[in-house]
Amino acid sequence: MPIGKCKLCNKVGELQDSHVLPNALFKNIFRANKGKAIHFNDDKHTFVRYESKSWSEFMLCQNCERHINESYEQESIAAIRNCLSSVRINKTDTGITFANINQKTLQLFLVSILWRAAASTHQAYEKVYLPEPWKEEIRISILENKKVRSSLVGIQLRRLSDPSKDGFSLASLKQLLISPFFRNHGNRFSFCFLIEGFFVEIFVPGIQAKRRNDLGIVAPNKSILFVPYQDIFDIPELVQIMVSGYGKFVDGKSRIKS
Ligand SMILES: [Zn+2]
Repeated sequence: MPIGKCKLCNKVGELQDSHVLPNALFKNIFRANKGKAIHFNDDKHTFVRYESKSWSEFMLCQNCERHINESYEQESIAAIRNCLSSVRINKTDTGITFANINQKTLQLFLVSILWRAAASTHQAYEKVYLPEPWKEEIRISILENKKVRSSLVGIQLRRLSDPSKDGFSLASLKQLLISPFFRNHGNRFSFCFLIEGFFVEIFVPGIQAKRRNDLGIVAPNKSILFVPYQDIFDIPELVQIMVSGYGKFVDGKSRIKS
């Protein structure tokens, strides 16, 4: 392992091969697809390709890797996968209710993905940027397990769905992999990515107070989270990514053999 300065605790030590989007996510996708994921990218110059790497780089020390994993990641992934007995899940026609979910842990887990993407130099995360001093404030929150203030970061979750006939199944929606992209809302940005079939949108600065009760907003002080369904074809960037990916596929530029 190379020696370097850990980006989370700033101490010099052996650096681990650190993930941004969790390795658990890649493992699931690879398991279902014989070791590969299909990675769509809206960059017109690159090919649609099978992805067999998990976008990692030497970034964090062992203690910080363990901290993120044990403090945030394991519990949050288990909760959204419905593998945590303490969290009760109720599905309706309009969305999913998570009862007794630790939203402070979930907030720090998702914010840690955003922060790691901003700290990463990997090409897959090149569109993610956090200006100082916000990046530093978020780093300290992650390091010290302190909720990030709502005026700095807001998170909205939606569960992808495809109601069209012969459309994507939930299992296939969980296997979609995209590089995070951003939206410019004028007075704030948001960064969007997919995780386990959820569309995650993180706003920086945070969501205005009057919108903090909207559906799907992660509220660290509450124990109930309702995540509405979102038709994948109503997310223009995902449609664009898929169309451009499909265009490359039919143009013969794709490396995917059908
Ligand atoms: Zn560290």
